[in-house]
Amino acid sequence: MSRPLNPALYDALRQIFGEVRISREGEPFRAAVRTDPLDAKKVVIVGDDRGENYEVCCPQCGDRRFRLSVSHRLNTRMNGRLMTHLFQCFNEHCETNPAFSRRFIEQLKPYVRRSNPALVTTTVSAVSKPAEMTPVSLPDSTALHHLPDHPVCAYLRSRGQDPEEMGQLLDVRWAERCYELPELNRLIFPVYVSSPAGPVCYGYQARFFDEQTGRYKPDRSAVPREVKWYTMPGLRTGKRLYNGMQAAGSPIVVVTEGPLDVARVGPSHAVATFGKNLTSSHLRLLWKHWGKVGAAVVLAYDADAWIVTKKNEREVAKLNQTLVSLKETWAGAVRLRFAKGQDPGSTPRLSFWKKVALEMDRAGILDKFEPVLPYVGTR
Ligand SMILES: [Zn+2]
Repeated sequence: MSRPLNPALYDALRQIFGEVRISREGEPFRAAVRTDPLDAKKVVIVGDDRGENYEVCCPQCGDRRFRLSVSHRLNTRMNGRLMTHLFQCFNEHCETNPAFSRRFIEQLKPYVRRSNPALVTTTVSAVSKPAEMTPVSLPDSTALHHLPDHPVCAYLRSRGQDPEEMGQLLDVRWAERCYELPELNRLIFPVYVSSPAGPVCYGYQARFFDEQTGRYKPDRSAVPREVKWYTMPGLRTGKRLYNGMQAAGSPIVVVTEGPLDVARVGPSHAVATFGKNLTSSHLRLLWKHWGKVGAAVVLAYDADAWIVTKKNEREVAKLNQTLVSLKETWAGAVRLRFAKGQDPGSTPRLSFWKKVALEMDRAGILDKFEPVLPYVGTR
């Protein structure tokens, strides 16, 4: 494999976004760079042959098709000028959003500034691995149990959630306006991992909620596009479990899709995989913290995770296969069934755990796990 033309930038993007695709590999930047005759602070690019580009999923518009294209000359000097705006979102033109542009450039600075890459077109064989993720600080925000009268708490209560518990046990927070987050995604769910020095935050997801109107459903036709969940760029959702720290050591672990499911099922027992993709890293974590010590696993994905369509045939087959191997290797494993449109987040806690008891009974493992079933009590 050939080396990217700008390895420092490429590696920084890998570290922040996970997957990076390269287009027009090895092709140099051929456009001319001049000072704007009307504004000496501005740069004019003549010609549009920008050569090698790095493509990532745009975090601003929730794009999943690698539509944010970053030139290999971003944050490098050409003709003495620092090139800071060589990126473009072909999905929603998010680069025209000044807050997003500023944030994106700021985020890359610490990686790129230090390396000062010599931009040569020769190929080098070694590709360095991206470094391990670093802890992050959360945007300015307040835990929900300190904001009992906030509209977002009223909304959560109307959905059957308990915002006080969410604040206290999961550190769910509300952020006042801040430039790290999209305008309407400010209900923050931090992702903590335990360390000898105490909990370390590795990122967060933020849920859509409009405090002015109480609207909680994003408008997909809005520009810039509104997304239900905003994931902090760089959070490795395939490698982390939401709420793993809190649920570790529980004799029954419930695997759900998202943070709101975890809050409803119970923070002492539930984790989330940030979607329907149960990765091999997730499975390793589950085994290490629960399976190995004899816990039972309850797979509680939404109904549509199991319904085969033309698009997801392979994913559903993989999930079924995973369930079979969980049943073979764990002390207990069951899958919960939800009616279409239902999920753990919409099921009251007591009903949820009664469902678990029922499935465990069907699987012949209820006797073993009944004494440790929470909320439903022992018969
Ligand atoms: Zn975008």
